[in-house]
Amino acid sequence: MSEKSLKPGVVTGEDYKTLVQAAKAGGYALPAVNVVGTNSINAVMEAAAQARSDIIIQLSNSGAAFFAGAGMADGFKAKVLGAVAAARHAHLLAEHYGICVVMHTDHANRSLIPWIEALLDEGEKYYEQHGKPLYSSHMLDLSADPIDFNLSECARILQRMAKIDMSLEIELGVTGGEEDGIGSEFDEAADNAKLYTQPADVLQAYELLNPIGHFSVAASFGNVHGVYKPGNVKLRPEILKNSQTLVQQTFSADDNPLHLVLHGGSGSEKAKIAEAVGYGVFKMNIDTDTQFAFSEPIGKYVNENARAFEYQIDPDDGTPYKKLYDPRKYLRLGEQGIVDRLQEACEDLGSKGRSIATA
Ligand SMILES: [Zn+2]
Repeated sequence: MSEKSLKPGVVTGEDYKTLVQAAKAGGYALPAVNVVGTNSINAVMEAAAQARSDIIIQLSNSGAAFFAGAGMADGFKAKVLGAVAAARHAHLLAEHYGICVVMHTDHANRSLIPWIEALLDEGEKYYEQHGKPLYSSHMLDLSADPIDFNLSECARILQRMAKIDMSLEIELGVTGGEEDGIGSEFDEAADNAKLYTQPADVLQAYELLNPIGHFSVAASFGNVHGVYKPGNVKLRPEILKNSQTLVQQTFSADDNPLHLVLHGGSGSEKAKIAEAVGYGVFKMNIDTDTQFAFSEPIGKYVNENARAFEYQIDPDDGTPYKKLYDPRKYLRLGEQGIVDRLQEACEDLGSKGRSIATA
């Protein structure tokens, strides 16, 4: 294959662009998995290595705070330091899993702009020392604000990010549902026009941001955070195609000039997701499904070994339960749950066997 290959590890800057281009040209998307600690980060890297897929690891602001420790007194500091610790963990270990890892932060709304700015302070320090940023990209989700404020803030932040080879994910239109306290309550009965990204907004974003730096767009085409009854999520991927065509024709750009991101795809029809990938979706967020994949086997294990979670030594027959309640035992089951679930995700998104990391 003539595909360009990259050194395994955390990819940023030009390498990140190469990875995005490889996915779009190859007709596949990368799973972007939310993590909250080393168990989930390691499981995601293990899953990617097993699937021979490159992967995106992301932290929400509360996931980052949890990474630093839910008991840390200063909540804002925890959000910043937890994100730094997670990224440093990945920078140290990712290359040893032999795949490319993108480090990203998830939704930051207006009140979380200071979080992103604090992370950029850290990113700039890291860049000075290592010649690469701590994170490959951040997301700024100002979709709840007026479009002019959304785009001018994105432009301001992207100017700073471009200097340290980072990419920005923006959101246009509103992804339904709520994720980690951010987002709107999803009304399953409503036919909400806001759930669909307007092509004119996409055009405005491209015109303003493309000259500044690399960016991607979380577009809304009926996608909803969380899992709902089948049939309640109606994806309309043709909205993505229309936006791509409009930008491509207006700016005489290459085919599929926009780098698109799919949020809230859990529970969607696989054919619609495949269609969306064909229209330039290179990243699909996965959180709900991997949360369940981690918890389900642990729940089963606890149920099957209930007495070991009640007594160190069985009061009736003196059986010692140390081997059963050792946290590694059940945490590993959770990790394996994530690894297995992501094999399916890599297959669905076409990224299985497509890692561009040098073997
Ligand atoms: Zn999202």
